[in-house]
Amino acid sequence: MDCIFCKIINGEIPSNIVYEDDVVSVFLDVNPQADGHSLIVPKKHYNNVLDCDDQTLSHVQEVVKKLYPIYRDRLGCEGLTLIQNNDYGQEVKHYHMHLIPRYADDDLHLETKLQTKNIQEIFDKLK
Ligand code: AMP
Ligand code: ZN
Repeated sequence: MDCIFCKIINGEIPSNIVYEDDVVSVFLDVNPQADGHSLIVPKKHYNNVLDCDDQTLSHVQEVVKKLYPIYRDRLGCEGLTLIQNNDYGQEVKHYHMHLIPRYADDDLHLETKLQTKNIQEIFDKLK
């Protein structure tokens, strides 16, 4: 399969791996939005969150909890933003979680605020 993250995991493409276990590899994003921007990537290829089994998803969360204090201590970040794109807006179609360290007054705008509909109209569709 022509997947850049599978190639990184197989060692065909270089990357800066900061953590690894049997299930995931964590490496630095090549185009970081903040210092330490990292990606938690399952070693097995899953396209998106719907495709990924619950055990792996839960392991990803465990790795978040393992790494956050380390990032706080070593990078001096004051927070951690987690982002996970699916399908639309997903550049690499291999499930991954973004870890974006947040620093005091970083003023990082991760999303453009979209024009929104009436909240009641949306709630009626979702409740
Ligand atoms: P997404 O839009 O959620 O699929 O994000 C994909 C992320 O992968 C982007 O932040 C890219 O900068 C990052 N990326 C793409 N190619 C590489 C690579 N070879 N090594 C590390 N990160 C990459
Ligand atoms: Zn892949």
